Amino acid sequence: MIDFDETALENIQTARKIVFFSGAGISAESGVPTFRDDLSGLWAQYDPMELATPEAFARQPALVWGWYLWRRQRVQEAQPNAAHIALAEWQAEQGDRQIICLTQNVDDLHERAGCSHVLHLHGNLFTSLCAECTHTVSEDALPEEHRAGAHDATFHPQGQEIEPPVCRDCGGYIRPGVIWFGESLDSNVLDQSFELSANCDVLIAIGTSGVVQPAAALPAIARDSGAYVIQINPQETPLDSVAHWNIRASAAQALPELYARVREG
Ligand code: NAD
Ligand code: ZN
Repeated sequence: MIDFDETALENIQTARKIVFFSGAGISAESGVPTFRDDLSGLWAQYDPMELATPEAFARQPALVWGWYLWRRQRVQEAQPNAAHIALAEWQAEQGDRQIICLTQNVDDLHERAGCSHVLHLHGNLFTSLCAECTHTVSEDALPEEHRAGAHDATFHPQGQEIEPPVCRDCGGYIRPGVIWFGESLDSNVLDQSFELSANCDVLIAIGTSGVVQPAAALPAIARDSGAYVIQINPQETPLDSVAHWNIRASAAQALPELYARVREG
């Protein structure tokens, strides 16, 4: 049970705009590991900070493509958990307030839980693109052996190296449509995120380690602009000092409880 903070509840109840800012921790209870736990099987010897870079893809495209295909497959097999569902219900019942879902996640579990208008700061696992000409390719348009779900149990969960498909326009390699370490975020998405954070009344950060910039700055931007900031995370993070209220619990426990309490009034 969460120890409810009355000031926080009052802030949520009177808020006109609430931004939910999620990270990998919200999907952990769906069985999609955070980066910290993501390395098992063949991948145990690698550091994700070294696989999720443009340099790694240029050096070892089959290794990186294989890792992402394995991740896509696992996400596809996963289901949204109680936290994704509570957030989607909260958004569906927003009435005349604005409830925004800003995520660092590259999975599609917010959408599959029923969230509309999800802003993905770090791109999307299920939209690939050409590394040369940036032509985008949806999951359905990939050659069959490259689609999540095309592989049997021997592929999952161990993973393997797989040569990426090539672009029909220019012959370049197709890469995952996610933002890698060292790459810039889409400026439209970033501008919108800054603006939404600077203009919200409450920001609720869920399951993010708060270290990957520039996304990690959003809670502080909200706070500096006068918003009330709440964090849901079972572990301590650098956002502890930014949040007015820290809920030390898992997302799938805390978010449904928080939503139920807010609805009670
Ligand atoms: P992170 O892996 O750095 O941190 C995850 C955070 O979640 C940690 O602080 C941890 O304490 C917390 N956490 C773990 N289990 C939790 C739970 N059950 N409930 C609530 N919190 C929990 O993740 P990040 O901050 O999102 O940043 C890492 C980068 O990795 C992001 O850019 C993201 O795109 C990428 N990533 C995404 C996914 C995904 O899409 N599901 C998975 C792994 C990594
Ligand atoms: Zn191309």
